Amino acid sequence: MTHPRESHLRKLPKVDRVLEHPRLTELGLRHELTRRVVVDAIAAERARVLAALAQDREPDPPVAELEALSERVRAQLERWLSVHPRPVLNGTGVLLHTNLGRAPLSEPARAAVVGAAGTCDLELDLSTGKRGSRLALLRPLLAALFEAEDALVVNNGAAALLLACTALGRGGVVLSRGQHVEIGDSFRVAEMAAAGGAPLTAVGSTNRSHMRDYEAALDGLANVEAALLWVHQSNFTQAGFVGEVPLAKLAALARGRDVALIADLGSGSLGLGIPTGEPTVAAYLEQGATLVTFSGDKLLGGPQAGILAGSAAAIHRCRRHPLARALRCGKLALAALHATVIAHAQASAPGLPLHNMIAVGVDQLRARGLRLCEALGWPSSCVRDSRATIGGGSLPGQELASVALVAPAKAHAAAMILRAGEPPLIGRAHDNELWIDLRTLDSIDDDTLLACLRRLGSTVT
Ligand SMILES: *Cc1c(COP(=O)(O)O)cnc(C)c1O
Repeated sequence: MTHPRESHLRKLPKVDRVLEHPRLTELGLRHELTRRVVVDAIAAERARVLAALAQDREPDPPVAELEALSERVRAQLERWLSVHPRPVLNGTGVLLHTNLGRAPLSEPARAAVVGAAGTCDLELDLSTGKRGSRLALLRPLLAALFEAEDALVVNNGAAALLLACTALGRGGVVLSRGQHVEIGDSFRVAEMAAAGGAPLTAVGSTNRSHMRDYEAALDGLANVEAALLWVHQSNFTQAGFVGEVPLAKLAALARGRDVALIADLGSGSLGLGIPTGEPTVAAYLEQGATLVTFSGDKLLGGPQAGILAGSAAAIHRCRRHPLARALRCGKLALAALHATVIAHAQASAPGLPLHNMIAVGVDQLRARGLRLCEALGWPSSCVRDSRATIGGGSLPGQELASVALVAPAKAHAAAMILRAGEPPLIGRAHDNELWIDLRTLDSIDDDTLLACLRRLGSTVT
């Protein structure tokens, strides 16, 4: 008599039999790829069966045999080979949602990406036929707009910070404990600043730092090349018995000690069309920062990129540092960034998707909500006042009045149905209701939005 364990395991198909199944061969994929998924699927199934038997249970569902396993492998392969990232509708009410790709690009920026996708004059000066710079036009444009002597573009905000601290603070980077900001996915600004080898000196306490703290730290770093670092509290606020040395005072200290003052702003605002409260790059430079670093895809409303703006000497040091080559920005992002910056060059508000989302009036949103509700046959009580946020590490605690459609279904079920649609629509769960915030949805997509929400109407109520 065979052991029950053996009789179960014997039902598992051999790798080659699954590989030869027409369901998989008809995909026409490379053998190594299909084989890896088959081996993993069989191993996972074996582990599941053994786990059940170890607890004296029959595997439930029963052991997957050839048909079921080949189906499972095919589904996995199709998932891997499907387009990603693909477009989704953002109904979360978070304007710059890092999980949803942050700022949506403008039409000109999208066209620029497509235009640069083939061969392009990335580093060719067409007037001379000689080698040019990938930042030939963007560099002076950024410098002028941000009122800086010079500018540089790298892969993202974290790269800009890393490059600045590594190039300018080789001997030590001094940062207040109140500014040890953790950004998304448990990455910490202080650790990123030090990742290029610049040792970090923390000063002060969580709630208060004083001039004497910075002075003592710089005394300890005399004779080495040091920098002061200021990190904008971009995703949290502090209240109560708190105090930081103002940026302008730190700038005076940095000048007196002949060290750089690097300001990590996180979100690079030009001011126009943005609610007040967020410092601008120009304001930081005006207060005496040597260099300001920020992201291209936060309040600037462009693609993922990191921008450094500041003194010509500091930018020169960064540009010539070996890390600059490792962190440089690719042509697709540069094309999108240039188109975005051109929008900011207009004297009126830039009219980028992000700025339109901020500017739209709440009455307009409410009227739109009622129209959508009517088209869906939902009661008008589904239109509710909501609060949207900028997100993406900008303007913490500041909200924008908004309007949401509240799905007439349980939040979890509705969210699942909407995520499975084409395009997927992402909402925000709130008190076991699913809210679809209209401020983060472009009215141009309203027909698509209605089609998405109709899936809900016919499936749930
Ligand atoms: C967002 C942020 C960063 C990182 O920028 P990325 O473009 O996401 O790399 C760094 N510092 C601060 C203060 C930020 O808010």
